[in-house]
Amino acid sequence: MIYLDNQATTKCAAEVVAAMLPFFTEEYANPSGVANAFGRRTQERVEAARASIAAQVGCQSSEIVFTSGSTESNNLAINGLLARHESRHIITSQIEHPSVLAPIEQAERRGFTVTRLLVDSCGHVDLNHLAESIRPDTLLVSIMLANNEIGTLQKWAQIVEIVRKSEAFLHTDATQAIGKIPVSLSDLDVDLASFSGHKMHGPKGVGALFIRQRGRRVRLTQQVYGGGQEKGLRSGTLNVPGIVGLEAALELAAREMDQVPARIGQLRNEFFAELVRQIPDLQLNGPALDSPDRLWNNLNCVFPGVEGQTLALACEQVAMSSGSACSAAHAEPSHVLKAIGRDLDEVRSSLRFGLSRFTTAAEISAAAELIVAAYRRLKP
Ligand code: PMP
Repeated sequence: MIYLDNQATTKCAAEVVAAMLPFFTEEYANPSGVANAFGRRTQERVEAARASIAAQVGCQSSEIVFTSGSTESNNLAINGLLARHESRHIITSQIEHPSVLAPIEQAERRGFTVTRLLVDSCGHVDLNHLAESIRPDTLLVSIMLANNEIGTLQKWAQIVEIVRKSEAFLHTDATQAIGKIPVSLSDLDVDLASFSGHKMHGPKGVGALFIRQRGRRVRLTQQVYGGGQEKGLRSGTLNVPGIVGLEAALELAAREMDQVPARIGQLRNEFFAELVRQIPDLQLNGPALDSPDRLWNNLNCVFPGVEGQTLALACEQVAMSSGSACSAAHAEPSHVLKAIGRDLDEVRSSLRFGLSRFTTAAEISAAAELIVAAYRRLKP
């Protein structure tokens, strides 16, 4: 199996697993049960991880709430904010992840007004549309930092400049960015940011929501009621191994940030060059590969005349994705590719590839060979 679906999820790194293991079998006390020394130790470990994670993403410990992942973080950010304010207008983009789009759609059903920003052919939000859309009653602007299908990195400074002329809160789904590019949440000047362990060689089922406390303090209404963990914002026994794994994954990403993106970006470019050499009418979806506005591990292409899903099935040794794996429960054509202007045939003929620190040159050339052979068999 050649795994090229690292936008969907990643392999847990060995050092991450090693860091987590003692918290399953030895240090397993409930960190909320601080009445005993056992629990105090795990609580201290959780707080150490919180401090380290906060430092890695450029915020303070008090600004991190642990969740089960970005789906929950996005829901808490959006629903938690909406529940607390009177303003009724929300701005988002057409290319967000379903875990942002769906809670906003639910809010729309309850009477909120929603503007979904247009994007250009590379997936950048239309800044004029953003500026025009902001109203005195705009409560929330939610725009992802990096797109999970076509790897677009938004022009963040310009987005912030526009949003900060208003009172609106700014949320970013940073799931695909944190761990892949250097991110300082303070520098980004956001109010809320979501991220997840399993996109950066950490474990599944753990993530965090950054909630700004410095400057304008952001207040949310809890969405999960119970024991009052995480200062009452997210009840539930903390996933201690997961939290320690999230810390280890971020540390690993930071250690390798000066070499993995360059090395794997080069492999990704070679992979695309080989595919284009063999399939000259292949088309790239999203920003140019040498653009600074594209994630280094992402590739998304139209294979003209062949269904992406059929091609993926014909080439089962290579794990890739047609559309977005995250919304694969509904086999609907990708809303992201439609938003960047691809017609239905092009959307259906698209495949997404995501490389990682584990991807090798040998895997890339074998994958290209298998995909090209399958394409030639299938092409009418
Ligand atoms: N946002 C984006 C951009 C994603 O890629 C994903 C994962 N597919 C999510 C949110 C959801 O994250 P999780 O799997 O941690 O719930």
